[in-house]
Amino acid sequence: MNIADSQTVTAIMRRAGYTASDNAGDADVILLNTCAIREHAEERVLGRLSDLARLKAAHPQRKLGLLGCMAQHNRAALMRKAPWLDLVAGPDSYRRLPELIASANFDPAIDVRLDRTETYADIPPEYENSVRAYVTAMRGCDKFCAFCVVPYVRGRERSVPATDILREVRQLAARGVKEIVLLGQTVNAYRCDQVGFGALLRKVAAVEGIERIRFTSPHPSDMTSDVIEAMAEEPKVQPYLHLPVQSGSDRVLAAMGRGYTSQAYLSLIERLRSAIPNLALSTDIIVGFHSEDQQDFASTLGLMRAVGYDSAFMFKYSVREHTRAFKLGDTVSDTEKSRRLSAVIDLQEALSLERNRALLGCEFPVLVEGPARRGAGMLVGKTPQFKTALFPAAPSIRPGDTIRARVDSATAHSLVCALA
Ligand code: SAM
Ligand code: SF4
Repeated sequence: MNIADSQTVTAIMRRAGYTASDNAGDADVILLNTCAIREHAEERVLGRLSDLARLKAAHPQRKLGLLGCMAQHNRAALMRKAPWLDLVAGPDSYRRLPELIASANFDPAIDVRLDRTETYADIPPEYENSVRAYVTAMRGCDKFCAFCVVPYVRGRERSVPATDILREVRQLAARGVKEIVLLGQTVNAYRCDQVGFGALLRKVAAVEGIERIRFTSPHPSDMTSDVIEAMAEEPKVQPYLHLPVQSGSDRVLAAMGRGYTSQAYLSLIERLRSAIPNLALSTDIIVGFHSEDQQDFASTLGLMRAVGYDSAFMFKYSVREHTRAFKLGDTVSDTEKSRRLSAVIDLQEALSLERNRALLGCEFPVLVEGPARRGAGMLVGKTPQFKTALFPAAPSIRPGDTIRARVDSATAHSLVCALA
């Protein structure tokens, strides 16, 4: 999502006459886009800002700005910790960036107003040349999970009109993009002018030239029949779903305000698997949320085993100011959180390896992305289930091609294949 937002910012800056530089040392303006989801992310940004302070000191006329959720979350503390910042702009203020940069002279320019209607629908982001493009379908979130800062920093839920999404997707198809990833914090809550998310998937699938469609992140409560049917019936919608569960304990799920029980989540998984037999699943898990005890944690491990996820993003709970759970504080020590995190990571590694090994000898269509980072003479791409496939390069194989590959060996994170 931050990549997509940065591409929108690049487009806005270019319209105002700026060009992008690969080297911060050459830039007149340096903008850092940020995340506020966990404290760790914020600490990293502060470290980065100290590095950039040196570039600013070398050329005091150079302007340094901080964008995104961290700007929105804690601008006062931020200005205290990094007083050399010229500019602070929240996720709904990017349209005004050129103006803010121009006005940031003796005092910093700050704009962190949230706007219930801003979708940047009329600004085509500056996409990279890639076989995959991320297209924002909706912004903000109305779910207010107790642990999460997103609704406070990205504002209320709003969807981009389907006509704007489709215009963008057609332009991307014309540039050779093969795969579209529709983005939103609760992307399957998408609704605009009577078009729901299932209908949107079908409309995007009708765009010629687009071969694969994915989306992230859907919320379990919004996984309605129209979405499941579109996934099952529309061949371009890929058999992969990232469905964040957060916890396997009903008590913790209720405290988090997630809106489902572990049983309801497992029934949903059953419905999805019977509609889409070859479905791969990934999830997000938080360990050490307020009052999570050993029994709650054991339920999380149990649910992970019951689902058999292909992969997962796993996090230690980080208390965030402004959220509903903030005043409850932290009841699980950092040491215990680290222990639980290691346990979920170890379990997921074992599950991923088991899932991937089960694919030995199977053949898949792989959308080619380019040279593999590791392994000279190898190319990398994704299977429909979003698994990373490595295979030998050949002069005739180009990024954007779809090749058939047979799985020869597997690790927890990738499939090593031969051309089939
Ligand atoms: N909207 C998505 C959903 O609810 O399914 C997730 C969006 S959030 C940006 C990505 C993930 O960050 C969440 O699924 C959650 O696991 C994690 N996360 C959010 N707030 C957190 C917190 N305070 N501490 C630790 N992890 C957190
Ligand atoms: Fe945060 Fe996702 Fe919950 Fe929204 S649905 S509040 S983005 S965790």
